[in-house]
Amino acid sequence: MNVFKFGGASVKEAAGVRNLARIIQTQGEGAVVVVSAMGKTTNALEEVVRAYAGGDTDEAVRRWGDVRAYHEGIMRDLAGNHVEENFQSVLNTFAGVETYLHQSATGSFDQIYDQIVSIGEVVSTQIVAAFLNVEAVSAYWADARELVFTDATYREGKVDWEQTSRQIQSLVATRPKQEVIVTQGFIGRAPNGLTTTLGREGSDYTAAIFAYCLDAESVTIWKDVPGVLNADPKWFDDTVLLERITYQDAIELAYYGATVIHPKTIKPLQNKGIPLYVRSFVEPEKPGTAIGDFEQHLLIPSFIFKINQVLISLHPKDFSFIAEDNLSLVFGQFAQAGVKINLMQNTAISFSVVIDQNPSRVPALLEQLRQSFRVNYNEGLELITIRYYDQSTVDRVLINKKLLLEQKSRYTVQLVVKDLGQAM
Ligand code: ASP
Ligand code: MG
Repeated sequence: MNVFKFGGASVKEAAGVRNLARIIQTQGEGAVVVVSAMGKTTNALEEVVRAYAGGDTDEAVRRWGDVRAYHEGIMRDLAGNHVEENFQSVLNTFAGVETYLHQSATGSFDQIYDQIVSIGEVVSTQIVAAFLNVEAVSAYWADARELVFTDATYREGKVDWEQTSRQIQSLVATRPKQEVIVTQGFIGRAPNGLTTTLGREGSDYTAAIFAYCLDAESVTIWKDVPGVLNADPKWFDDTVLLERITYQDAIELAYYGATVIHPKTIKPLQNKGIPLYVRSFVEPEKPGTAIGDFEQHLLIPSFIFKINQVLISLHPKDFSFIAEDNLSLVFGQFAQAGVKINLMQNTAISFSVVIDQNPSRVPALLEQLRQSFRVNYNEGLELITIRYYDQSTVDRVLINKKLLLEQKSRYTVQLVVKDLGQAM
């Protein structure tokens, strides 16, 4: 049994759905196929939530209408005049959403968020499963809201592995072996039966959950890039495709912010030794990148580049040392503000952290910190992480940059810099 995962970009238009069907026909017999919401649907549904939870039904309905029209366009392209005949399940989902939006909002914002945003995945998988059947691939639409059990942490559901394994295994046991099972990434079910989501970009994680529960042979994530590169081509020239990556390196790269794979995805696969392939849906005959239990770690440096970084330095107002008591205060305040620390460093009387700029969270955090610390604040910075660095790569990335802070461990260096090119 193999698990395939297709992200939003792979099914953002009808041609993508056709391409998915071709890939399944040629190499996906009997696979579990996990699909994300089409294109930018999740972002669009977030706007629906904002309007609906804010009590603006008209705006919510209008924004939902755009989401609906986008999917209708794709279905028309796939089925011509046979939309109703082929995609009845999708039309039923649409009707359900419209009923929901006309009722007044109940529950917390996060709870409402999950009920609405999850529709993106429900609809994309209904379209994909129906289209596969039209193309004579026998496909079964499985509802992840009956398979992936989580706690009631809306927007960040924690998986109940035991119950989830039981449900997934018993579903698969009842289905014919050659049949393709199409299911939603990113969504699950709370103990009370409401829908939860697993955190933005969580569909990779769903693929890992299914693979873990089914002891799958492999997971393949189909992407619009040839595989995992040693750097993001948006920022670096001469990128190199990494053919093999150890689980450990993949976890580290994801942790430092490489966006190819969702960080939570690797652990369950590593626990069972299930290989993960990252391959191109544009060139599906190419092998891409394999992530697994390899002996050899990466031989060339990998780069992770983050912009819009903020460096905050804290100095206790009473000139006391930075120690456990004030550090626990600092960490508590960051956690409470929901701000993730990308890098930290301390000296005797100061503590520096680097975070993503986030106008909705950072100002309140600074306010809090200023009550106990003198705060220096430096924005518009870049954070460059190099795994398996050597001095010549460090020197090269520092050309035309001012270095503000550097942290080295045996394999990884992190550099906080200001781009001098921009200032001139
Ligand atoms: N559709 C969800 C999101 O955009 C999940 C995913 O794409 O993995 O966050
Ligand atoms: Mg997505």
